[in-house]
Amino acid sequence: AQFATAAAPAPQTSPDILYTGLFINNEWVKSEDGKTFPTINPSNEQVIADIQQAGKADVDKAVQAAKDAFKLGSPWRTMDASQRGYLLNRLADLIERERSYISSLETLDNGKPFLAAYYGDVAATIKNLRYYAGWADKNHGKVLPTDGKYFAYTRHEPVGVCGQIIPWNFPLLMASWKLGPALATGNTLVLKPAEQTPLTALYIAQLAKEAGFPAGVINVVPGFGDAGAALVDHPDVDKIAFTGSTEVGKLIQRGAANTVKRITLELGGKSPNIVLDDCDLPYAVEQSHMALFYNMGQCCCAGSRTFVHEKIYDKFVEMSAERAKRRVVGNPFDPKTEQGPQIDAEQHEKILSLIERGKQQGANLLTGGQRAGDSGYFVQPTVFADVKDDMDIAKVEIFGPVQQIIKFSDLDEVIARANNSEYGLAAGIFTKDLDKANYLIQGVRAGTVWVNDYNVFGHQVPFGGFKQSGLGRENGPYGINNYTEVKSVLVRLSAKNS
Ligand code: ADP
Repeated sequence: AQFATAAAPAPQTSPDILYTGLFINNEWVKSEDGKTFPTINPSNEQVIADIQQAGKADVDKAVQAAKDAFKLGSPWRTMDASQRGYLLNRLADLIERERSYISSLETLDNGKPFLAAYYGDVAATIKNLRYYAGWADKNHGKVLPTDGKYFAYTRHEPVGVCGQIIPWNFPLLMASWKLGPALATGNTLVLKPAEQTPLTALYIAQLAKEAGFPAGVINVVPGFGDAGAALVDHPDVDKIAFTGSTEVGKLIQRGAANTVKRITLELGGKSPNIVLDDCDLPYAVEQSHMALFYNMGQCCCAGSRTFVHEKIYDKFVEMSAERAKRRVVGNPFDPKTEQGPQIDAEQHEKILSLIERGKQQGANLLTGGQRAGDSGYFVQPTVFADVKDDMDIAKVEIFGPVQQIIKFSDLDEVIARANNSEYGLAAGIFTKDLDKANYLIQGVRAGTVWVNDYNVFGHQVPFGGFKQSGLGRENGPYGINNYTEVKSVLVRLSAKNS
């Protein structure tokens, strides 16, 4: 997918850090035990700011605030649904007002190129909130022609207090995917940003207060996995929405079982991108490049198994390596930069060690393969050819700028190999043959299939995984269902007529 490159404002390369506290009950507070943690600039490994670190006691406080805000008769529970929509639109307005600052903050904390933050993450955040603002007064129940003298209907009620656990790869956008539907349907929430990237979520908490959300409806508690686990374990949390690794997703599913919490999980992937021999080759090479390298390869849906038909394999490999060599790596505030740093030292090391595994196991390294620069968590754009299905780099989610190009010869074979994975998040198909495209669409087990494009998202279009890539869908009307309890009501009638 492309994003427009029409004039964007100049980024603020040292945006002010205004909020470093916990946001509970519309107030900024310190952690109970006084703990803080540093958030690091991944471009230079320097501390940006020390952030108040939520532990269990702070999570308890935030959950209590969310529970109070959800009480019968509270300002939030008695508010018209249309007014909830209005507040969401106000929040979108305020994010739009601060779009350049927020994009700069995201680039500083996450390392993604400023233009990607501005035209991608923040633009999509605004659209998402507006989309769900529209839903606020449109999520209605049904009147049911049940047997007997009864007036039967369903009410779509909010689930209650929602715990929302956010990853670091799209910090603000993933927060908005969870805020929009939760608030539109009248829930209250405690949101835990990832420890690597707390800054934009904290900033928009203040904007939510400015927009007029009542105290306790939105609480933001930066912290580590223990704070996330405290939300999962908390008996007063009714639902958990999580985006992150499959490993932690499994922990959450287990933990949530104790209180039968509703859960939605958006987890990892090893998505196949299937390129047929009749494709537009230069286009498919470029799209497959972006499918993998976008956001430094840190996308759960990254096209990280590029299956290419044997007839065009050699040419595709050569062109892909050339393209990766031209990829501009560097300061994410520079508008020419295509690739910033990886998120942290741990990911950086993991990616470099998987590259070593790829070499050891006999994959053909065509370009890259090492760290880039002396400071910051940069990795050279890396392309492997002659990758076999049983190599680690073809099975493990690398979450870095490392492309695996794999050869195939026929459709049934590639479907079987594409599906031979514990994951099922997304798939790409490049072909001009409609019949082949449809055959593949039906054959691949994935929550999203892109044909002749990749990484295309719409807030109207559901996103989520088959198999171990997740549970439930976000975005679109499907996203609303996850934040709604259906209550069936049967009222006895004295008489009934059709
Ligand atoms: P990654 O491996 O990509 O960093 P994680 O799945 O570890 O992704 O993290 C995603 C989010 O889940 C982060 O906000 C993180 O703090 C949180 N988290 C990590 N461990 C746990 C846990 N045991 N319970 C709940 N949340 C967790």
